[in-house]
Amino acid sequence: MSRLVLDHVAKRYGDFHAVRDVTLDVADGEFVVLLGPSGCGKTTTLRMIAGFIAPTAGSIQLGTRDVTALPPWKRNTGLVFQSYALFPHLTVAQNVAFGLEMRKLGKADVASRVSEALKLVRLDHLGERLPRQLSGGQQQRVALARALAVRPDVLLLDEPLSNLDAKLRQEVRVEIRELQRQLGLTTVMVTHDQEEALTMADRLVVMNEGSVRQIGSQRDLYERPADRFVAGFVGRGTFLTGRVEAPGRFRTEGGLALRCAGDAVGSAVLALRPERLEIGATPLAGLDNSLPGTVEFVSYLGAASDVHVRLSPSDRVIVQLANRGDGFEPEVGAPVHVGWPAAAARLFPTTGEVQGP
Ligand code: ATP
Repeated sequence: MSRLVLDHVAKRYGDFHAVRDVTLDVADGEFVVLLGPSGCGKTTTLRMIAGFIAPTAGSIQLGTRDVTALPPWKRNTGLVFQSYALFPHLTVAQNVAFGLEMRKLGKADVASRVSEALKLVRLDHLGERLPRQLSGGQQQRVALARALAVRPDVLLLDEPLSNLDAKLRQEVRVEIRELQRQLGLTTVMVTHDQEEALTMADRLVVMNEGSVRQIGSQRDLYERPADRFVAGFVGRGTFLTGRVEAPGRFRTEGGLALRCAGDAVGSAVLALRPERLEIGATPLAGLDNSLPGTVEFVSYLGAASDVHVRLSPSDRVIVQLANRGDGFEPEVGAPVHVGWPAAAARLFPTTGEVQGP
């Protein structure tokens, strides 16, 4: 069993809270991704799990052991960094063997584990090469083999793909995920790349300013974001600031009167996903909201276009228009109507809340 539990873990540097009160339960074999903007505390959290940084509060449990006070080499974690960190003067096989030799395994055991790990990442034919004789993707797979060779209780990946080009990144993503499933390895990965996080994770932890803002599946985060920050960080959207004036009635700062699904009167931000909005040349019947506007910008993306529509001097929305080939292609300057059902919008009260991006 290698369940990983972080219980109220925090890290302070003087007065600065790099990580605040993180509680997280990663199930045996689960792939959890820590996602958040630069400086939000992801790497610090990962390094506390690995043992390179000591928490100022809280505890970390791996399997049945409390590892909070253990040094890294006694935790049995496998770590893969962004920078590969391979020894340039050692061959691929020697790089993979390094951690095993440090653990004082016998020669025969080291050889069989190296060969097993290199087979897993499909590099068993390149064991005698030096790192500089490999491509970036191959070097990253050596780093992965090195982490897997120690048969870690938990695999820790710190932005492991950010040095690879876009196409290779997509391939290696799938490889890592398949391998992790096949081995049933409990894994925690850190990334600021939203797409990477969404494609790889079983569950995501969204962090900002040292705190966990939401833990959930892709669908939870996208469709039921806990706050304005998560709604803005995961997926795209339009945010209209204003007030719920009466239950079901929202007025934007720009003066638009909208129907909404919220009852709590007060200042709020109304969030709209581009694909939930409809657009047409005439008023949209059967929707709670249908507003006239003017197209200001169109970005053609193949399967769909993003249409930016001005609804008032201070309110502009982005509508995703699927490319169905039915001839409706609004151009800049065209008068249009935009509509949506009240339930398609989410409301985030703003009073006292820390604002996101
Ligand atoms: P990135 O994606 O840029 O790597 P991150 O989310 O991984 O960001 P961390 O590296 O965990 O962020 O850093 C969190 C915060 O803690 C940052 O504001 C950073 O400046 C601060 N920090 C990290 N290490 C130290 C340190 N040794 N002393 C003081 N502050 C630190």
